[in-house]
Amino acid sequence: MLLPRLHNLETDQSPPTVFPPCLPVFFHSLRRIILYGPAASGWIGFLAAASAQRVPSDTGTQPRRVAPYLHRLHCDDTVELDAPFISHFRVFRNLVVLLLGNGCPRATICTFHLTDEDVSRLAMELPRLRDLSLGTACSRNTCRTTVNSLLALSTHCKGLRFLCIHFNTGKLARDMWDSLHHPLRHNSHPPSRCPLTVLDVGLTPLPVEALGEEVFPTLAGLLDIFPGLNTIRYYTFSSRASWGWRQFALQIPNFQEMRKSLPVVFAQEPCGNHQSPHTPQPQHTSHSTVTGSASVPHRPGNREIEPVLRS
Ligand SMILES: [Zn+2]
Repeated sequence: MLLPRLHNLETDQSPPTVFPPCLPVFFHSLRRIILYGPAASGWIGFLAAASAQRVPSDTGTQPRRVAPYLHRLHCDDTVELDAPFISHFRVFRNLVVLLLGNGCPRATICTFHLTDEDVSRLAMELPRLRDLSLGTACSRNTCRTTVNSLLALSTHCKGLRFLCIHFNTGKLARDMWDSLHHPLRHNSHPPSRCPLTVLDVGLTPLPVEALGEEVFPTLAGLLDIFPGLNTIRYYTFSSRASWGWRQFALQIPNFQEMRKSLPVVFAQEPCGNHQSPHTPQPQHTSHSTVTGSASVPHRPGNREIEPVLRS
């Protein structure tokens, strides 16, 4: 075992350049990893490569186990989010908190390259996720992820309570209608959904053109995906661009009030204690948090989460 008693690893230093030979377990007791700077992606690649190695055992060879009890992993904003990078995290099946930053709002082009298929695969590989940040969304709205990524996460991650992600809102109303035919909308009866309460959309624009007359059905679709949603975090950079988020803000309490009188048609699993994670906040914009918590149906697992600003 490599460092068998190490519980927390917090570093901005590069990982080792060679693997200790024939060790069946790396970081046997490691529970938490926090990585800073350029070393972050190096460490993730190192741990994933170590898990791909096979080591001798009584019955021949077996895969090396890497940090089998890791439940929290945090990388700061130095990484590009693409399919090869995100695939490394399948090693850590027990992750509960995965907070990844990116430099998207400050970069010249969007650095978020995931697709709905990538996000869906991640959701299936990490079903215990409670807090997930895939980097602060920029305002370019060029990403390929859609509401189907939200649907996949809500369906496969039964304990998810906080989500920060890029998803394209260029034709959000149309995407929401199209998602009605997605198999995950009807995967069970009643449909299985996570108890998410906070959705962080960063700088994602939602102008009137993206919604048109479809404000109510689109919000209803979003609340079908996240029935416990009571807070949308967005960063105000233009009243025109954030028009849709404000409309949602006004209507969430009304929708949730209506849901009180309806039969519960979605599944929520009880969750343990939750602390809202610290998420990257752009420095050049003001921050708005939309909360309809006063009218959220009182169900197990629903708890108001106060906005948290990162210093
Ligand atoms: Zn971006």
